Amino acid sequence: MTSTTSAALPRVGDRLGRYTVQRLDALPEMQGTLILLSHELGARHAHVVRDDDNSAFGVTFPTVPRDSTGVAHILEHIVLMGSQQYPVSDPFFAMLPRSLNTFMNAMTSNDWTTYPFATRNEQDYFNLLSVYLDATFFPLMRYESFRQDGHRFEFETPDDPTSALKLQGVVYNEMKGAMAAPGAVMWRAFGKALYPDLTYANNSGGSPQDIPNLTYEGLRAFHAAHYHPSNAFFYTYGKLPLSRILADIEAHVMTHFTRQELDVSIPDQARFTQPRHETVTYPGSDTERGAQVSVAWKLGRSSDADANLRWSVLSDVLLGNAAAPLTRPLIESGLGAGLADLSGYRDGFREGAFSAGLKGLPAGQAQAVETLVLDTLRAVADQGIDPALIESSLHQFEIAQKEVSNAGYPYALQVMFRLLGPWLYGGDPITGLRLDTELEHLRADLARGQVFEPMIERELLNNPHRVTLELAPDPQLAERTEADEQALVAGLSAGFTDEDRARIVAESLRLKELQAQESDPNVLPTLALSDVPPRVPRVAYTQEHAGRATVARVAQPTGGLSYVDVQVRLPAVPADLLDTLPLYTFAVTRGGAAGDDYAALARRIEAVTGGINASVGVGTRPDDLDGLRLSVSFSGKALARNAPALVDVLRDVIATPVFTRERLEQLLRQRLAGLKSSILQGGNAYAERLAAAQVSPAAAITEHFSGLSALATLKTIVEEGGLDDLLVRLDRLHTLLLTGTPVLCVTATGDDLGLDLTPVTAAFTGNLPVGAPHPEAAPRRPQARITDSPVAFNAVAFRTVPYTSPDSPALLVLSRLLRSGYLLKEIREKGGAYGGGAGFDTREGVFTMSSYRDPNVKRTFEVFRDARAFLDTDLGVRELTEAILSASKLLDPLTSPDTIGRMRFFGDQAGYTPEVQDAYKARLLAVTLDDLRRVMDTYLTPGRAAYALVAGQDPNDDVRDLNLVFDVQAI
Ligand SMILES: [Zn+2]
Repeated sequence: MTSTTSAALPRVGDRLGRYTVQRLDALPEMQGTLILLSHELGARHAHVVRDDDNSAFGVTFPTVPRDSTGVAHILEHIVLMGSQQYPVSDPFFAMLPRSLNTFMNAMTSNDWTTYPFATRNEQDYFNLLSVYLDATFFPLMRYESFRQDGHRFEFETPDDPTSALKLQGVVYNEMKGAMAAPGAVMWRAFGKALYPDLTYANNSGGSPQDIPNLTYEGLRAFHAAHYHPSNAFFYTYGKLPLSRILADIEAHVMTHFTRQELDVSIPDQARFTQPRHETVTYPGSDTERGAQVSVAWKLGRSSDADANLRWSVLSDVLLGNAAAPLTRPLIESGLGAGLADLSGYRDGFREGAFSAGLKGLPAGQAQAVETLVLDTLRAVADQGIDPALIESSLHQFEIAQKEVSNAGYPYALQVMFRLLGPWLYGGDPITGLRLDTELEHLRADLARGQVFEPMIERELLNNPHRVTLELAPDPQLAERTEADEQALVAGLSAGFTDEDRARIVAESLRLKELQAQESDPNVLPTLALSDVPPRVPRVAYTQEHAGRATVARVAQPTGGLSYVDVQVRLPAVPADLLDTLPLYTFAVTRGGAAGDDYAALARRIEAVTGGINASVGVGTRPDDLDGLRLSVSFSGKALARNAPALVDVLRDVIATPVFTRERLEQLLRQRLAGLKSSILQGGNAYAERLAAAQVSPAAAITEHFSGLSALATLKTIVEEGGLDDLLVRLDRLHTLLLTGTPVLCVTATGDDLGLDLTPVTAAFTGNLPVGAPHPEAAPRRPQARITDSPVAFNAVAFRTVPYTSPDSPALLVLSRLLRSGYLLKEIREKGGAYGGGAGFDTREGVFTMSSYRDPNVKRTFEVFRDARAFLDTDLGVRELTEAILSASKLLDPLTSPDTIGRMRFFGDQAGYTPEVQDAYKARLLAVTLDDLRRVMDTYLTPGRAAYALVAGQDPNDDVRDLNLVFDVQAI
């Protein structure tokens, strides 16, 4: 056992090796302490001591690119491709299955690059620390790595210099895909429009037309100029001993460097004297509803803690919910479907930004949106802001400060991102974690008079540094980009001699040879199967019955928040209402309730809760893939003092929702725009669902709830006028819902656990039995969906066995082995896709393989087909152990006080008890290679395969040799 008690905390001025303790601050809200240290070489280190079994690390470098070659992004890829002590081709990927980490990644933002991880195992922590330090400070940066992940020329047939010449590279293809997504184009254009003279004008990810200008020498120079202790911000978190962590960093890194002066400063952007207008385009054909307009302002320094808080509050007041004074007129104008991307306050630039606008509109509306935004702000400043709205927003900040949750990111890393914000721009990192001083200033100023109205006046209305940015679809852009790429290749290769061509062939073959070589991952540290906790965590809860309802109560250290879950098990749902369920749950929390309109409900939710949610789900029994159950879930959180008010809100939303035609139309347009823009980000998930729906009834329902079928249904209603019918169906669903069987769970600290839930339970009056849907899987026929995309997302799915089948753990292990041992290599490294993987849904019993942002279709389906042969290659104990370790992580998800108890309770309710889960784990730890071959031969045969893809064009000519005929539909 190791733990740092307060007695062991260092004091300001203490020396820990070559580190000096600069500051020590209590973090009472999170029951922790922040220790700030500096190293003689100039490195800064923030350590958060906190009693959390999940420990974290991150090293962050300000990276300031001066062009759009993507140097910072390509470097991030290449430092992860082998280092001095760990000369394997992909140490991060190789570590994934040798570790029980709860988070491992690397990210490039517009002006920094960070390498964070988290784990609950102490040995694992120091293993990963060593790998991360070696990767970032001592990468091999091989020329072949640069060619593989950066850019390279390659002949269509790599050993035939007379075939067509192409540009290739993982980042090159990744960015071709990314820059086709309107959200990514908007983000780049936003930085460029507001800060045209600074690093933000560059595309830090890399513009496809600029990436080929990056040289290998330029890449190495960028590493030397940025990845140095004098430019590093270290972060550590948890209860492991700080002295040991610092000693490791000193020995591994610091002793090998001398102090350097590195200039990564970003100057102020010269202020515009007049507002500007910019238009950018993205490849898209939806000229009716594919444009967005954003009105954006440059504000003051992001490192100013007072200003940062005030802008965060003001942004929430103006835009934080559907009734907010800027949101409501924008949406109700009917000009667009939803708020523009990036709307709100942004502190991710050295000088902050505020923006507001609309998306989902036709091109040419820039002036109309600008006028609407400015007029609305003018009115808000003149009429004044209702103090109740400001109180509601401050209450949201109180919740954010108190809540300890692993939702999204592990809490251990949320803390890092909160303090990095001000820290990297020269501000005080503690202001990211503790806002009491700034809140006091703000409250005092509010008591004296208006604070926010003058800010709107001064920093928005009278600020000439404003850009109205229009993002519009261009149906011809994809074709032009393709032609530009060919021209670029022609230009770059114009003077090639036979010798040059021979060199390209030789380098291609050399790269293929290197990719085929097995590097020995045994140089990397690893955990053993004995490190896997044999049992899943038990969590105590009480359970009672109230009429038809079952109620569980879980005591947890929630930081003073109360969480309420209401799961309603549905009776038999008529087939024609199935597609309406996701629309019901989307609209029900966004409409009105108890006679109030949507704006009144939105204000009420903001004033007394930390948000409420509704969702629909399909559950399968542990022993029967066709034993399905449909349920609608409502959940919400609130400060304990507002928990009764939260219960009342939930009652009103469940018992007396108000759907109006007008609001419904707004909501459906918003949802349609949201779903459309998610296709290019999550095309693999859509393709997987489309394939899975052909083999599993549960997956077929899920596909209708959240797949491309849901999008098609929605499109029909919005574009062909089905609103009146929909209103009738929503009414029928509401009646049906109240005849369901409610199962509730409250999570709170012991003192707050006695919350009265009868307002909710009393709403359920019927006595229908819980239904058992018997839907069928979709017909088995390869499905292709076509959209504006230069890359493809390919998937194959197989029906297998339920959770309690002895073969299920072997299938889970197989999915991990194929992913790391086979698919990543074949599809990503050799095929040039951004990603490839395999997954096994243990509850649906569906096994999938898929690719992400993939330049290939036919080749990838061949890779899927040939997976079985991989199992006959030279696989041993190491590969098996890694796959089991990696699979076991999926059985032990990271939990936090808000989730651990309800996951246990609802799991128990559905039959996934601790005993059932422990038995699964025991079988998992005993899986053999023969088991893997056997389950693959039994379940993953070509005869059982279902195929689907999302791509830019009809795949049928390409795949003819594979005997696949896709049913092709446009999205
Ligand atoms: Zn990348």
